Amino acid sequence: MTSPVRIPGEWKIPYNYTVGTFATAFFDGLREGRIIGCRCSTCDRVAVPPKSFCEYCFIPIETLEQVGRNGVVEAMTVVTAPFAGSPPVPYAVVYVRLEGATSAIANYVRGVDLGDGTAPPAAIAIEAPVHAVFAAEPEGRVTDFWFEPGHE
Ligand SMILES: [Zn+2]
Repeated sequence: MTSPVRIPGEWKIPYNYTVGTFATAFFDGLREGRIIGCRCSTCDRVAVPPKSFCEYCFIPIETLEQVGRNGVVEAMTVVTAPFAGSPPVPYAVVYVRLEGATSAIANYVRGVDLGDGTAPPAAIAIEAPVHAVFAAEPEGRVTDFWFEPGHE
């Protein structure tokens, strides 16, 4: 039996999709320098970014609310291997639970010396305080903000 014939190919399919009411509120908030989450009326959890349903209670969520810019690191990584579209290495990404939120949101880190990227910096260790810093002219994108060490 012969092996299957394989023909290399590539699809490039540009598209746009609607992100929905809650994600729209999140991105609109970023444009105004605010981080928006949602509160479940049953379990009181606050998810950031907001979701239209509670992933714990499986019920629709109707309440959006702003969370704080200060938070604590729940997870972090220092990336040392570049890939298409990545920032120059090394760079760090942290998962941060912001004040008023019960979930965490990931974003890039600035203001930390990462050295050669082989040693995790204490400034962004688990439970380290960090705060969100916004670009001077936010555009409604998740890259409008990043995290820096300490609270503001
Ligand atoms: Zn819930």
